Amino acid sequence: APPIQAQGLAKTYKVGFWFNRTVRALQSLDLQVDSGQIYGLLGPNGAGKSTTIKILMNLVRPSGGTARLFGKPVEDAETRRLVGFLPENPAPYEYLTGREFVTLAGQLSGLSGHELDGRVTEVMGAVEMAGAEKLQIRRYSKGMVQRVALAQALVGRPKLLILDEPTSGLDPLGRRQMRDLILAERDKGTTVLFCSHIIPDVEALCDRLAVLVGGRRVREGSVQELVSAQ
Ligand code: ADP
Ligand code: ADP
Repeated sequence: APPIQAQGLAKTYKVGFWFNRTVRALQSLDLQVDSGQIYGLLGPNGAGKSTTIKILMNLVRPSGGTARLFGKPVEDAETRRLVGFLPENPAPYEYLTGREFVTLAGQLSGLSGHELDGRVTEVMGAVEMAGAEKLQIRRYSKGMVQRVALAQALVGRPKLLILDEPTSGLDPLGRRQMRDLILAERDKGTTVLFCSHIIPDVEALCDRLAVLVGGRRVREGSVQELVSAQ
């Protein structure tokens, strides 16, 4: 089964003081991400990108449609262990050090002992946080938080990475490093879904993409197809 398959996904939020108004965040979205692809969700703020990702991570319940990861419903806890997740505004507990935070994530994905220790060292190096890993997270810049949050997503060697605005808060060099990390993961066979409103990031990374506007998918295809269609 493909890493991600969603059909007819819809989400309506109730808003306002009396919850008497509704926002249609997502309307009948179909999505399929095949193994080994980097798939991009591109669209402006409010397009429904985060909502899509939250549905896939079982953080938001869809109002309609179905979503499956590796053929299993998104509620399946076993399947969740195959997925590394970088949330939109990662807010790890501030009094942990970066290394402690990533170690905890590694424990949750079933690693322990020397293997865990070695893997944490490896991912902290990969995101260039080795030098600051013993500092408490409250001392980190936004970019450093973003990078330990990525390390947290990678530590369990996920088969699927889901990244919500992975370059947000990063300076140009940090963005470049984040892109390289994502490409390196794909080269190891990891499937990646990420969302962004930054066209150059999506162009540089994706094998395929969907363009969302106002909760609807307005385009879908390979980057070449979408660029040549303009
Ligand atoms: P994004 O960067 O995806 O555009 P937003 O700024 O829209 O994020 O949303 C930030 C957070 O606030 C998200 O967790 C989202 O679910 C929540 N949120 C967004 N819009 C509303 C709203 N109208 N009412 C309540 N929560 C909202
Ligand atoms: P994007 O990630 O593309 O910026 P979102 O999925 O965050 O888009 O938001 C899509 C729409 O849903 C926006 O209009 C946003 O304000 C609204 N929204 C998102 N989260 C919530 C929420 N928790 N409550 C109410 N409205 C929300």
